[in-house]
Amino acid sequence: MTDPLPLILAIDDTPANLLTLRKALGDAFDLQIATSGATGLALAIEFLPDLILLDVMMPDMDGYETCRCLLENPATRDIPIIFITAQNSPDDETRGLQAGVVDFISKPINPTVLQARVRTHLAMKRLTDQLRAMAFVDGLTGISNRRCLEETLAREWRACLRARSPLAIAMIDIDHFKRLNDSYGHQSGDACLVAVASALKACLGRAHDLVARYGGEEFICLFPSTDLAGAQRKAEELRQSVQDLGIPNEGASAVSVVTVSVGLAVTIPTTEMTTKQLMHSADTQLYEAKRTGRNRICCIEFLDG
Ligand code: GH3
Ligand code: MG
Ligand code: MG
Repeated sequence: MTDPLPLILAIDDTPANLLTLRKALGDAFDLQIATSGATGLALAIEFLPDLILLDVMMPDMDGYETCRCLLENPATRDIPIIFITAQNSPDDETRGLQAGVVDFISKPINPTVLQARVRTHLAMKRLTDQLRAMAFVDGLTGISNRRCLEETLAREWRACLRARSPLAIAMIDIDHFKRLNDSYGHQSGDACLVAVASALKACLGRAHDLVARYGGEEFICLFPSTDLAGAQRKAEELRQSVQDLGIPNEGASAVSVVTVSVGLAVTIPTTEMTTKQLMHSADTQLYEAKRTGRNRICCIEFLDG
C-alpha cells in the first residue's frame, strides 16, 4: 500500500488564487480549499491537514486572525502555516513571523519556489511528528512510557471528574525479577520485560485503556470509567496472562514462572482529590500484595466524603 498524498489546506478569499495554487502544486499533493478564514478553520479542525497555505488579506477574518485561532487550538497548533502574501516588506514579514507562521511565499506565485518550500515544511513536519511520538514511547518494550502515563492520567482524571465516573489504576510489578536477571542474564530479563508488556497490552479492551512502563520492571494500567468490580476482573486478567506466558523463573515462586503483583486503586475523582493520591493508594496496595505472598492483587476503593 502506498502512503496517502500529503494533505494541504489552502485558504484564500479569491477563487482565482486558489486555482493558481492548485496548478502550481500539481498532483503530488491532496489539496483542500476554503474561501474564508472561518471555513478554513473548520476544515483544519476536521481534517487536520499536514500544511496550511494562508492568504493574508481576506475580509472578515484575515490571515493573522485565522493564524491566531489555528495556533490557539491544541488540535491544529502543530500544523505549519505558510502565508501567501502580496505584501512582502520586512515589516510584513516580521509581523507574520511573530504571528507564528513558518514561512512566506509572495505573489505572484512561482510554482518551483512554492513546491520546494512546501516539500521542505512537509518533511520537517513529518520529522517533528515522529520525534513527538517517540517522546511518549518506551524504548525497550514499545509501549507508552512514564511521561505518556502522566499526561494521560491527568487527562483521564479530568474527564472522569466531569463525567463523575470511576477511574481505576493498576500498578504492576514483576515478582523476583532480580532473581531472573541473576539466574538467566540481563538479556533474558529484557526479553521478559518485552513479553510482559505485550501480554499486558493484549488485555486492554477499550480505546481509553492504557498500559505504560513506569520504570524498571514496573508497569501501570489505567482503566477510565471502570468501577471496582470491573477493574478487579481486568487486574486478574493481567495477572493470569503474565503467568500464562510461562517464562521460567526457577525458585521465584511456587509456580516457578514469572508472575506479577498488582496494586489496584479505584476512585471517582473530585476536585478535593489529586492523581497523586490515587497513585499512592495503588502503590500501597502493591506493597500489600508483595507482603502477603506476591502473584496476587490487592485493591482499595476510596470515595470522597
Ligand atoms: P519483588 O518481587 O519484591 O518486586 O522483587 P524484585 O527482584 O522484582 O525487585 P527489585 O526491586 O529488588 O529488583 C528489580 C530488578 O529489576 C533490579 C534491576 O536490576 C532490574 N531491572 C530494572 N530495569 C531493568 C531493565 O530494563 N532490564 C533488566 N534486564 N533488568 C532491569
Ligand atoms: Mg485576499
Ligand atoms: Mg519486582
